[in-house]
Amino acid sequence: MSITVFDCQMCGHCCHGQGGIVVSAPERQRLAEYLGLSEEDFCATYTQTQDKKLVLRSRGDGFCIFFDAVTACTVHPAKPDVCRAWPFFRGNLVDAVSWEMAQDYCPGIRPDTGHAEFARQGRAYLIENKLTKNGREDEANALHLPGLTDKD
Ligand code: SF4
Ligand code: SF4
Repeated sequence: MSITVFDCQMCGHCCHGQGGIVVSAPERQRLAEYLGLSEEDFCATYTQTQDKKLVLRSRGDGFCIFFDAVTACTVHPAKPDVCRAWPFFRGNLVDAVSWEMAQDYCPGIRPDTGHAEFARQGRAYLIENKLTKNGREDEANALHLPGLTDKD
C-alpha cells in the first residue's frame, strides 16, 4: 500500500531514549539469527529487562545500541517490530492529541493529511505487515490494538 501520511526524514529521534524498544521472543530470534548469535548470547549482550519485558539496551549517549550516526539502523533487515511500526502506535492511532504531539518528536508525520487518514493508513499498514500484537506479556503494548488483528 502507498503511505502518504508519513515520510521518514531520517532524523534519528526515534532511535534515542531508554527502554522503548521491546523485543518479543520471535523478534529476539530474528535479530539473533541476523547477527549470527544464539538467542541467549543476543539477549545477554543487547537487551535488558524493563517492566517484565526485554528491551534493547541504549548506549551512554542515549541512542539505541544498534544506531549508527552515518548508516542509521545497523540491524535494519531484522529490526524490532516497534521500529517497523512507528509512528503507527496505538496511542497515535486512537487519539488525535497524541498524533499531534508525536509530530513534535517525529518530523516524518505529515500534519496536513489529518488524523483520520493517518489512523486509516496506519491500521492498514500494521495489518499488511503483520505488526499487530495480541497483548502477550513480552510484546510491545504500543502494538496491541484490541479488536484489530492481522486477520482483520
Ligand atoms: S523520528 Fe520520525 S522522521 Fe525521525 S527517523 Fe524516526 S521515524 Fe524518521
Ligand atoms: S533497532 Fe534500529 S531502528 Fe530500532 S531503535 Fe535501534 S537503531 Fe533504531
